[in-house]
Amino acid sequence: MSVYNQFVPSVGIENRTSLRYLTAHHVRNLATQPAVRLRPRFLSVRRVGWARPLLRLRSEVPATVHGADIYHSPLFRKHWPYGEDLDDEPQHPECPHRVIVIERALHESQLPLHWHEVPRFREPFAANCAKLLKIVEASGLEALEKETEDPALARAVRAAAAVHFLDHIAEIHRLVHVRGATRIDMDTYLSDDTLEVALMATRAALEATDAALKDPSRLAFVVSRPPGHHATRATAMGFCFLSNVAIAAHEVLKRSDKGEFSRPITRIGILDFDVHHGNGTEDCVRQQERIRFVSLHEHPQYPMTGGNPNEHGPKHNIWNFPLPAGTDWHNGYAEAYAEALNRLCSGTDRSDVVSDLDLVLVSAGYDALASDPLAGLHLKPSDYSEMAFQLIHRLKPSTPVVFCLEGGYDLNAIGEAVSQTIQGALRARAEQPQAVV
Ligand SMILES: [Zn+2]
Repeated sequence: MSVYNQFVPSVGIENRTSLRYLTAHHVRNLATQPAVRLRPRFLSVRRVGWARPLLRLRSEVPATVHGADIYHSPLFRKHWPYGEDLDDEPQHPECPHRVIVIERALHESQLPLHWHEVPRFREPFAANCAKLLKIVEASGLEALEKETEDPALARAVRAAAAVHFLDHIAEIHRLVHVRGATRIDMDTYLSDDTLEVALMATRAALEATDAALKDPSRLAFVVSRPPGHHATRATAMGFCFLSNVAIAAHEVLKRSDKGEFSRPITRIGILDFDVHHGNGTEDCVRQQERIRFVSLHEHPQYPMTGGNPNEHGPKHNIWNFPLPAGTDWHNGYAEAYAEALNRLCSGTDRSDVVSDLDLVLVSAGYDALASDPLAGLHLKPSDYSEMAFQLIHRLKPSTPVVFCLEGGYDLNAIGEAVSQTIQGALRARAEQPQAVV
């Protein structure tokens, strides 16, 4: 089932969600067809007022709290369907305007924020990336550790290829840079810079996690796109190409195993509150018992996985909380969230067990907002403040937390919801004396 296929004309690849299903015939068609204009239902019934000024969020964060680190890049305004422009009304919900409204809301929020622009990869990206992929194919992932030409790109490719199949990344490169394809499936479009932007999102997650591990008193929020939590080891889907949060988690475990931290990382928690099940993240971590994955999501809903709360995977590290459409904070969500935090923090159903997590990565999606055009849960922006507050409260003060943007498509609400998330997290940190500097 596709998010959008009921709204778009057929291009002959219905029900195909994997790059591997694309035959040469399909690829030729994709390479020659004009970009298909997606007109999802919500855009046809109301204008997206992304240029409307957002409400200013009043800061309730004590001045003693260090603040939050925001990772961003102008590159996250690239990657969009061919023929579209920032001045146009976006025709696809996963659009660059998302990061623009979030950054603007954060600037207006008066929250104590520290802005970190992630530098671009060196030019020429396509050739450099192709070279790295060939090195991995010929000599294995470890060969990239010695690459000095663009170490940041080498690290992003190596970390991504440690989680995804190498063919998955190489195929995106081929489709974008060799064949000029315009989409992977009915939902997931491609443009000239898709792989570069996706790898930048991976790099931002890696660098935010590095910094958070160095100074756990800090909180980080990565304002990146495209999202990642639907990308499985082998498949790009649901607007996602690389499973950034899973990649960051595996990279931390690898570094820990090499003795790069003062004490080993024994357990990482991934909390996914995007309204869609994080099927990609789950696929990428289900064989790693040191990563505990907890997802709250609407079900049934795209991608139609994560519906069985009693299926915990071969390593018993998966906890899914499917919720029916219409659920709001006071009608089921708060209760499920409390249970989800219990599982995240200890793997048990108890709220009085001290968290055993050394790091928490949050797949922060904002499409559970009541006003989101793609789904049916009914959260308010202020609910995200409470969710972040409760999360931080359940963790030890020394636990680093990194939020990475996933979905969220109401351009009038996601900025405020992200601001509320950071505000709630900082308020909770303020109540943890050890975390105050
Ligand atoms: Zn989503």
